[in-house]
Amino acid sequence: MSNDNANQYSASKTNENYNKVLESNEVKYCYNCGEKVLAKAVVCVHCGVSLQKLPQNNTYEWKPWSSMAMFWLIVGTLFLPFFGEIMGIWSLTTSGRRSQGLALLIFALIKDLILLFFVLIFTTTIFAYFIEPFIYLFD
Ligand SMILES: [Zn+2]
Repeated sequence: MSNDNANQYSASKTNENYNKVLESNEVKYCYNCGEKVLAKAVVCVHCGVSLQKLPQNNTYEWKPWSSMAMFWLIVGTLFLPFFGEIMGIWSLTTSGRRSQGLALLIFALIKDLILLFFVLIFTTTIFAYFIEPFIYLFD
């Protein structure tokens, strides 16, 4: 058997097996084009759509936040941002901790400047300048 004949033989054997499977129960119908495809197929060989099942119950359900979460959100937002400053100032007034307090205060002030930079970007006309090019995409 020449190589070409061998290839033809194996191709016809593959087609035979494929047809056998299509005639059996191991098939389903593509929801998009209606053609028969293998039951295990993840993509339709006729039109190319995905045949994978989508996860069920994937709708997002909004739940009101618990009072505990709200408490920590308020504590974290209002008080923790100044934790470094408070600790720094407290350490500066405590003998033996001055250099630690100074380092803490410097880090806290750098953090404040970064925070201030972002607050300015998102609240002033700089923000409008940044989003202006994108506004025209939606009208
Ligand atoms: Zn299809």
